[in-house]
Amino acid sequence: MTKIAVPITVLSLDDALRDAAAAVRAGADLVELRIDRFTDHPEQLAPLVERAALPCIVTCRPTWEGGAYDGDETTRISVLEAACLGPRQPAYLDVELAAYQRSANIRQKIGLVVDHPGQVRPVTTKLILSSHDFDGRPVELHERVRAMADAPACRVIKIVWTAQSLADNVEAFRLIADQPKPTIALCMGEAGLPSRVLAGKFGAELTFATLARDAATAPGQPTIRDLKDLYRWDAIGAATRVYGVIGDPVSHSMGPAIHNAAFGEVGHDGVYLPLRVRPGYGAFESDIAAWLDHDELHVVGASVTIPHKQNLLRFVRDRGGRVEALAETIGAANTLAIDGGGALSASNTDYAAALDAVCAAMGTDRSGLAGKTVAVIGAGGVARAVVAGFAQHDANVTIYNRTVERARELADGFGRQSGATVLVKPLDQLRADGADIYVNCTPIGMHPNTGETPMPIGDNDLAGHAPVIFDTIYNPIETRLLREARSAGCKTVSGVEMFVRQAAAQFTLWTGQPAPVDLMRRIVEQRLNDSGNT
Ligand code: NAP
Repeated sequence: MTKIAVPITVLSLDDALRDAAAAVRAGADLVELRIDRFTDHPEQLAPLVERAALPCIVTCRPTWEGGAYDGDETTRISVLEAACLGPRQPAYLDVELAAYQRSANIRQKIGLVVDHPGQVRPVTTKLILSSHDFDGRPVELHERVRAMADAPACRVIKIVWTAQSLADNVEAFRLIADQPKPTIALCMGEAGLPSRVLAGKFGAELTFATLARDAATAPGQPTIRDLKDLYRWDAIGAATRVYGVIGDPVSHSMGPAIHNAAFGEVGHDGVYLPLRVRPGYGAFESDIAAWLDHDELHVVGASVTIPHKQNLLRFVRDRGGRVEALAETIGAANTLAIDGGGALSASNTDYAAALDAVCAAMGTDRSGLAGKTVAVIGAGGVARAVVAGFAQHDANVTIYNRTVERARELADGFGRQSGATVLVKPLDQLRADGADIYVNCTPIGMHPNTGETPMPIGDNDLAGHAPVIFDTIYNPIETRLLREARSAGCKTVSGVEMFVRQAAAQFTLWTGQPAPVDLMRRIVEQRLNDSGNT
């Protein structure tokens, strides 16, 4: 089973022992003692290995391989030897391939303290030969891996490089599967997170996770808490289905928190990851093709966000998949689904989420929207989905926008495709008593500008009229627009409702099961409250 190793930067014996104890409590299997900065105390290393609460990897990484040790090689190797000579041997010793290849003397010295076919002493420490590239994928990646595989004393191959794209992760998964020896293949950086979280799915020897966010010894290492609680480490197996949010940026997406919790809640064998894909159709096409075409990943679906909502439509069309008619009209899709036969479909769960959130507040189904007057504020991406949804259900839609031409383009384009008439007015003509439903699709009032509103509403502005006011902004949960509307007696709908409902619809598309909507809502609200912005 793939193990979790927590790296510990050793600065003192007591602090390292305390961190090792914390690693046990966090659920780690191993600690990696990074002794790069602790080489002046070789006599304390064997006691550290002996007293650490978990089996150890001992590593003294030189600066030329991305570590902090800047002394000579003779001292470095003798310090590693010292760590191995106590009553309890380290589980692993990590030595850089480059150093191992360079010097027969190093090979001979390391050979004395690790287990290998010619070892005559009762030694159990396994040699990890490692290679790291902080700039990107090394050109001679496969040569390096072959050299490790061919070294008789090497028990574990470790290859780590900085991911430029999602495709790097797929290469790491293939490497793990193809090697004759236990292998660690990890990608650094934000784009490399899947290689770390899915190491267990592909049977890697181990993955690394930190005790705290600032304790990473390589870029992109998750915390052990995130690995276990957010990314479902203990539930991931070879057959686990893989989902994610494709976009750029994606690191602050709430998708992983809500979908992974939902999978856990209903017992679905799935994991949902942030999948950063650089802007442009070329990057989208090559990354997603690599991701989907690796059958052993079992990719079943993805959320797609800025800047790739249009790219998803094109990709699915190019691959002969099915595009939902209204997603085509809107010109954007946010959901990719792959059925059991490998057929792709693209759909848009945003417009349905917006409609259903409003209907729930009105206590009606979608047929109740016919004939209602709807004021859509804004003419960007979200407004497109909202306009399409309401117009399709025979509501009378007027777009109010700062840039009238942009609104007119949206209305005309939509009219050409659907035959519906959508009116356009400048934003300064917006009044609170003119429509049955208002939908704010601008960022006016969003954190940190929480004092702003696209439509001030005084307590006496509505004169008995009580429209439904829906703000698609979800941070803060209650915007100034919603606060004033509530105090004037209106029914209000927060952007949280739309966000949760579009995610719930994705969940159902992918799993065929009803989504645990209350749990999803709780998680979104909790994360927004924890961020302190609401
Ligand atoms: P977008 O494509 O950039 O469009 C923004 C719209 O807001 C444009 O029409 C723009 O007018 C208008 N606008 C921006 N700043 C303005 C200002 N200071 N004064 C007047 N008008 C202004 O953005 P989007 O992707 O549609 O997103 C809009 C909002 O939707 C976001 O801010 C977010 O809060 C919300 N959202 C909610 C969800 C959810 O699930 N609840 C999901 C995504 C987004 P011009 O045309 O004149 O530039």
